[in-house]
Order: sequence, then C-alpha cells, then structure tokens
Amino acid sequence: MEVEVLKRVLARVDELGGISDSAEYLQRTFLSTANREAGERVMGWMRELGMDAAHDAGGTVRGFLAGSAEGKAVLIGSHIDTVINGGKYDGALGVIAALGALEQLKVEGVELPFPVHVLGFSDEEGVRFQSTYLGSAGVIGALDAGMLAVKDEGGLTVEEVISQEGWHECAEVFSYDETNAAGYLELHIEQGRVLEEAGESVAVVSGIFAQARLRVSVEGLADHAGTTPMNLRRDALAGAAECVLAAEGFARENDGMVATVGVMKVLPGASNGIAQTCNFTLDVRCAENDLLESGLGVLKGRFAEISKSRELELKWEVVQVNGAVPCDEGMVADLVKSAEKVTGTARVLGSGAGHDGVMMSRVMPVGMIFVRCRAGLSHHPDEFAEAGDIEAGIDVMVEFLKRRVQ
Ligand SMILES: [Zn+2]
Repeated sequence: MEVEVLKRVLARVDELGGISDSAEYLQRTFLSTANREAGERVMGWMRELGMDAAHDAGGTVRGFLAGSAEGKAVLIGSHIDTVINGGKYDGALGVIAALGALEQLKVEGVELPFPVHVLGFSDEEGVRFQSTYLGSAGVIGALDAGMLAVKDEGGLTVEEVISQEGWHECAEVFSYDETNAAGYLELHIEQGRVLEEAGESVAVVSGIFAQARLRVSVEGLADHAGTTPMNLRRDALAGAAECVLAAEGFARENDGMVATVGVMKVLPGASNGIAQTCNFTLDVRCAENDLLESGLGVLKGRFAEISKSRELELKWEVVQVNGAVPCDEGMVADLVKSAEKVTGTARVLGSGAGHDGVMMSRVMPVGMIFVRCRAGLSHHPDEFAEAGDIEAGIDVMVEFLKRRVQ
C-alpha cells in the first residue's frame, strides 16, 4: 500500500491513543469526555476522506461515501472505547484501518459498486456499565429496556447517561440489519500469541468462541493447622487446588479449549487455619457449543469426584453461557483468498475474546481479520503491533473489498 496512507494510519493510532480521560493512562469509557472527543476526531478523518460523518445518541460514529453506489452496504468497523489503562491498538486500529483501506482504494482509483459504511462503536469493552457491546447493540436495535436501565458506579443508568452526557443534539439513528447491510468486517489485534509463534502477520477469524462463566464453591471444615492430623482434614483449599489443576489438565487434553480460574477466595483465611470454604470462578471457552456443554459436564463430574474423595461439599453454579458465534462461511472464504494473495498464507483462527461481531452477527454475516500483536499482549499500555503487520491487515481488507467488485 501507499507509504503515505500507512504513515497516516500509524500517526492516527498514536493520536487517538493520546485522547484519554486520565492524565496517567489510556481510558475511554462509554460516552466519557475522551470517548466523545475520540469520536469527533474520527468523524473529522471520515470527512477528510470525503465521507459523510455522523454520530448516534449513544456515541457511535459513522462515515459513508455518498457516491452513486446503491444496494446493501458493507460495514467495516471496531470500537473506540478502551479498558482502564489500556493500549492504543485494541479497537482503535480497526476503525483507523478501515479508513486506511478506503483511502488506499481512492489512491488506486478503485470505485466500489456498493456503499461502505465505517463504524466506530462507543462501547465494546463494557467498563462503565459492566455490560458489553452497548455501541453495536444500539445500531442493530438491540439496546432494550433492560440494558438501558443498567447503572454505572455513580448510580446513573445507561439511559440517563445518554440523555445527559450523550450527543442528543444532531444525533442520527443508525439502524442496520440484513435488509440494508451485506455484512460486517472487523480488523482487530489478535490478543493472543498464535500468530507470533507461527511467525505470521495476519489470520482470518473462523468465529468467536463459546464461553461459560461459573461460580464454584468447595466447603470443608475449618480446623487447627497444628493439631489436626493430615488424614483427618477436610481442607477446602487443597480440594479447590485439585479442581483447578483438573480444569487445567482437561483443557490441555482438549485441543482448542481454554479453562481459567481467575479469582479465588479462601475463608476464613488464616495462616494457621485449615480453610473452611473456597470460592472460585471458572471461565471455560472453546469453538463449539457442543464441546463446551460436554466439557462442562466432564468437569463437573471431576470436581464432584475430587470433593467426594476429600469429604467436601461442592457447589457448581453456571452464571452465564454465551454460544459460539461462527463467522460467515462466504466472508471467511473471501478473506482467506485475500490473505493468501497478500501474505502467501492464510491461517484460520478462532477468537477466544469477544468482539462487536458477536452483536452484529445477530442480523448480518460477519468476518474478521486478526493482526499479530507483540507477545499477544492487549488491555495493557505495552500493547503493540508492527507497521508491517498492520499494513498486511489493511491490504487484506483492500483485497477483500476489491474481490466484491464484479
Ligand atoms: Zn477490542
């Protein structure tokens, strides 16, 4: 691609990364001052490219080329919000790359016979309301009364924040479904180490993993650490530890499955006491719903065996299950051909992390491109993607759009 176009993409990643609600680190949450400022900046870039730019009341920004193209639009986008102390590539790169791809096509004099809309969603991370995808939910009409009533730490509901801090003035309503959109494409950093290990720049995403979140509790008997013989103990922590290792071992045995215990609370929590209760979280993900369901069954059985052998009481609570979201077969096939043309190879990879495509897939086909990021790191200020990898990702996007020109 043109050197100048790539340079502008990289400069914009830096520029957007400098717009933050905190002086010390990067933070842009739903409809915060920095979130809206970032949206304004992106709309400015859209207008520079000759696009009509607008925003909705929920802070999602949109640009489109008001050319002669008719028919269903191809949507390209990502999110402009960040986590607390996040990195500048997660989300922002996808929006900026979309503009870079369109600029490249302009330089090459390619006219697309279909409309392209670029979207910058105001909320994907869900930091402010602990409720993800507010931006994309808004544009597909899924922002229901339940979501609007969720409160932030200050006690304000989503609805109140939209009316108080939002862009009610001159806001437009974005509304997409299969009748006006051909599909949604997103470029995102991988947030994992597969590409780095393989020494490859980009991957085509096959789908977003199914995910289950559970709360597990193991109950034993608190007792004296000095006077209770080992064979008479009902140690909740030792049992929980065996469960954690069982979950790790099971995920290792099953290719493509990941299982994580990220939080563990030990009660009563004394250095000279045997644990009475151990509460922990369990996060299990894999590409297929069936495998997740059967996997949870096996894990529950193993946890129960461990608890029984130690005379512990097990509580197993499934808090949330999100089904797998497969990417559209046609879009995957086109992206694979595009990636092969650009890089000579095309790895197809599942996504362990959620993305705006989860929401968009409810009403239209979705496809995704992953770009290698250093050490797989994301949600961290050291998050980084090489210029060459970003270039390859944008080239794949450009190639994908060209393939749709008959
Ligand atoms: Zn993201």
